[in-house]
Amino acid sequence: MRPRAPMPPIVVRFRRFTSLNTTIRLRDGKVLVSLSDLLEGAPETVIHAIAHILLAKLYGKPVDPRQNLRFKRFASSAAVTRQTELIRHARGSKRYSGPEGRYYHLEEVFDSLNMRFFGGLLGRPELTWSEQLAKRSLGHYDAAHNTIVVSRVFDRPSSPRYAIEYLLYHEMLHLKHPVKMRGLRRCVHSQEFKAEEARFPQLAAALAFIKRL
Ligand SMILES: [Zn+2]
Repeated sequence: MRPRAPMPPIVVRFRRFTSLNTTIRLRDGKVLVSLSDLLEGAPETVIHAIAHILLAKLYGKPVDPRQNLRFKRFASSAAVTRQTELIRHARGSKRYSGPEGRYYHLEEVFDSLNMRFFGGLLGRPELTWSEQLAKRSLGHYDAAHNTIVVSRVFDRPSSPRYAIEYLLYHEMLHLKHPVKMRGLRRCVHSQEFKAEEARFPQLAAALAFIKRL
């Protein structure tokens, strides 16, 4: 592209967990290139295409459409991989605030429910209050992290203990009754699940409280 120009020092950095965006800059006579780590293992031809595109950009020269196409093809498949990785990374670094709330301690509630309803046989997963005052998701079991998350909206004095107990009890039933497949459909709340849930003494009161909430 600029055959007579002297070769400048080039610094290439591969960055983790970024999009596929690449940047090229000229600073203090050095060419600084920043690339997604997904491109690190790219085939030679793709690396060549990237170099071509970036240098064309830097020197304001036209980009060879074949090089562009070569890069785009590779990038679209790599983008899928990256998306999956980003989601996994976000989940992996998800910060939980722990089982100890201001008014209720989830491990204590769990242990008492375990004794009352499961003969103490259920293994205790990680238990945590949610970071935010989530109202959409009041409780859920995160199988990937073996963690039951309960919304912090329940950690207040106006929240009756039976409401928290019910939420936890429901999630504990999910531990006991793994998702079944009925043909192609996932059956999350099976007949047995529902029958066992109905054994919770203050079920109606708990559901009414949640509805008001
Ligand atoms: Zn459920």
